[in-house]
Amino acid sequence: MLEIKAQYNVTRNWQGDPCVPSDYSWEGLNCNNDTLPRIISLNLSSSKLTGEIATSSSKLELIQSLDLSFNDLTGPLPEVLEQLPNLKTLDLRGNKLTGLVPQALLERFRNGKLDLRVDANPDLCLDTPCKGKKKREFFIPVLASSITAVLILLFIISALAIYRRKRGSDMVTKSSIKSKNQQYSYSEVVKITNNFRNIIGKGGFGNVYLGKLKDGIPVAVKLLSPSSNQGYKEFRTEAQLLMVLHHGNLVTLVGYCDDGKKKALIYEYMANGNLQQHLSVTNPNVLTWNERLCIAVDTAHGLEYLHNGCKPPIIHRDLKPANVLLNEKMQAKIADFGLSRAFATENDSHVSTYPAGTFGYLDPEFARYGNFNKKSDVYSFGIILFELITGRPAIIRGLEENNHILEWVIL
Ligand code: ATP
Repeated sequence: MLEIKAQYNVTRNWQGDPCVPSDYSWEGLNCNNDTLPRIISLNLSSSKLTGEIATSSSKLELIQSLDLSFNDLTGPLPEVLEQLPNLKTLDLRGNKLTGLVPQALLERFRNGKLDLRVDANPDLCLDTPCKGKKKREFFIPVLASSITAVLILLFIISALAIYRRKRGSDMVTKSSIKSKNQQYSYSEVVKITNNFRNIIGKGGFGNVYLGKLKDGIPVAVKLLSPSSNQGYKEFRTEAQLLMVLHHGNLVTLVGYCDDGKKKALIYEYMANGNLQQHLSVTNPNVLTWNERLCIAVDTAHGLEYLHNGCKPPIIHRDLKPANVLLNEKMQAKIADFGLSRAFATENDSHVSTYPAGTFGYLDPEFARYGNFNKKSDVYSFGIILFELITGRPAIIRGLEENNHILEWVIL
């Protein structure tokens, strides 16, 4: 979908996962109801599309209906469309497509298996060979557009190869991780963490351990401390909900353990730890400007998705450098989002009692009125930006008084 978005320069608010949350799937497409939902229809009718039909459409393997009608598409119908076994409707009316409709598509049309609509494409031809005046004229454009199509295909393949190389194994790891979404028993958690051998962090809810799934994929296992056991209301429901949230700038929840009193969350492993460690004065490897800029943009994307890509929106409520994690490519991802209901205790009357932010990152309006909203997260994000730019911590504690980064910036 990202390739299609880039090729056609689609300006719709297409971000995050196209299918989930289902209430907020991308405009113009429908997905099936599988555990890992897949796209089954795409409607880009009257969307001012130009250029050739995107060959990447053929990657939408389960698509049943593709509507590209009433655009300015040119060139031939790519043969790759034949490879979509479930395609039942292909609407290409009102474009400037040229050449012959591929035989396999025609056959499916004639057998009643495909509803193929190609009217109002003056230079598109259903017959073999094309009849009439256009017959001879077709040869050159078809040849030219085939060459163009091959060149474009080569370009896309090499661009993809470069992108993959740049991103390293990240995408592979992510997709294999995605397919592992599931519930684990406590004994499996013990195995995954090699009996909790390696602590990689400590948070308000307990220790975080390094682990390895069966196929060797590294994960971070957050074991929830038993002291808060009567809490974790709706833990399972929330964990399942969070597992279907996928965005390149959110730490993926791979699985969870809800084995009686033993509860754990299993996340994709972020090899470069948290941003707080990197901003610390004791860190010998000072972040470059470019790294800081990328971290800021990545974090902004993640937050934007939580606020505007999820329905209902997810308010993070505790955004801070310790919750911005970095993978082996120094790509930043937000962690600890959306756990408000899972972590609400039985005694909580309302979810707003969940972590009320961290000193230094807390929106003063919240401090005064006690009402968390998207802007509270944006305030916390602003403080992170100041930290990235100035290299100073949010709070410098003094003997007599504390000094907040905003006071320093204003002065
Ligand atoms: P609090 O829970 O009080 O808000 P926190 O957010 O730092 O604090 P955790 O989310 O439990 O607490 O994480 C503790 C530390 O464990 C993180 O700061 C990070 O260094 C490490 N950590 C957490 N998740 C991962 C992960 N997915 N990959 C690598 N390290 C992680």
